[in-house]
Amino acid sequence: MLLLAGGRIVTPGGVLSPGWIGLAGPLIDAVGFGDAPEPAAVDLGGQWVLPGFVDMHAHGGGGTSFTEGTEDDARAAAAFHRAHGSTSMLASLVTAPLAELEARAAMLAGLADDGTVAGLHLEGPFLSPARRGAQNPRHMLAPDVAVFERLHAAAQGHLRVITLAPELPGAAQVIEAATRAGVTVAVGHTDATADVTLAAIDAGATHATHLFNGMRPLHHREPGAAGALLDRDGVTCEVIADGVHLHDIAIRLAARVKGSGRLVLVSDAMAAAGMPDGSYRLGSMRVTVAGGVARLLEDPADPGRAGGPGQAGPGAIAGSTATLAGVVRHAIAAGLPVPDVAAAASTTPARVLGLADRTGALSPGLAADLVVCDDDFRPRAVMRQGEWLPGT
Ligand SMILES: [Zn+2]
Repeated sequence: MLLLAGGRIVTPGGVLSPGWIGLAGPLIDAVGFGDAPEPAAVDLGGQWVLPGFVDMHAHGGGGTSFTEGTEDDARAAAAFHRAHGSTSMLASLVTAPLAELEARAAMLAGLADDGTVAGLHLEGPFLSPARRGAQNPRHMLAPDVAVFERLHAAAQGHLRVITLAPELPGAAQVIEAATRAGVTVAVGHTDATADVTLAAIDAGATHATHLFNGMRPLHHREPGAAGALLDRDGVTCEVIADGVHLHDIAIRLAARVKGSGRLVLVSDAMAAAGMPDGSYRLGSMRVTVAGGVARLLEDPADPGRAGGPGQAGPGAIAGSTATLAGVVRHAIAAGLPVPDVAAAASTTPARVLGLADRTGALSPGLAADLVVCDDDFRPRAVMRQGEWLPGT
C-alpha cells in the first residue's frame, strides 16, 4: 500500500486533518484520520487533498477544443484539463450543422472508448435563439426525436447529457426519448417560463445547464426556468462559479437552495482556458478574450447589431477561460464550505454521470483520482487512477 500522509483530506464525511490515504494500484485502499499506520511514502505537508474534479461541461482548453480541429486537438484539450485536476470530464459540443455534430460525436466517441473523456454533452441543437448566448442560432433546430436518435447513434453509447430548451415544440418527446435512452436531459439556453420548466421536469429533465446563464432572470412573479430548476429538489444545477458568469450572491444562493448534493460546479471552458488574451473560436463563432473574459465578436444572425454584456449576440459571454480548479478556488473564496465544494466539483457530477461507483470521492474502493492543493487551493499535483500526472 502506497501511503500519502499529513494532509487535509476532504472526504464525504468531512475533512480529516491530519489524514492519510492508502493506495493499492489504481484504487484508494483506505482513508484515515491522524498519523499513518505505517511510514508514508509521501508527506503531504499539510496540503489539501480533494477528490479529482469531474467537469461535466467543457468545450476545450489549452488552445484547442472538442468543437473543432482534429482528434489530437481534442485529446490535447482533455489533457490540459486533466493536468489542472479534472480527472474525469465530458466533451461538450455547441450547436452546429447536424452533419458536423454527427461527425464530431463519432470522433469524440473514440476518446470516450479509450477513457480520455467520460462521454459527450450535446449543448444543442434544440436551443432557443432568444437565449442563445454565444451559440449560432442558424443551426438551432426544433426538437425532433429522429434527429436526437441520429446524434445518439453517432455517439455510440457515450452521449451522457443533452441540453435543450423545453418550450420549443417537440421538446417533450425528445425529453422522453433521451430519458428512455439513459441520457440526462438538462434544461438550458431556454426562454421557458417556470410552468413550462416544471412540465419538462415532470417529463424527465433532471439537470440545469449553467443555472441563471442562458435563461430568464428569476423574477418574483415569473420565476422562469431558474426558479423552477431551483425549486424542484430532484434537479441538479450547474453553476459557472468563475467570478465572471455569476455574482457571488447568486452562487451562494444556488448552493444554499440546492444543498451540497444537488449543486454542480462546471468550467464551461472554451479553447482559451489557460491561454493568453486574443482571438479564439467557439464552434463556428468568433470570440475575443480580453482580461480573461471571452466574448462573442459578432452575431452571424444579426451582423452589425450592437450588443453588450449580458445579452445574446455581440458582447455575449462566450464560455469561460476557467479551469474547474479555478472555479473551485473561486467558490471557496465566495464562502462555500470546502466539503460542499468538493461535493459540487466531484461527487455530485460523478453521480449525475453514473460514475459514482468509480470516482468522485476520496473513499475506499474508488479510483485514486485526487488533487493536492496548497493553502490557496491552487493544484500542486494531480493523480489519476493511482498515477501522478505531469504538468502541474
Ligand atoms: Zn457550454
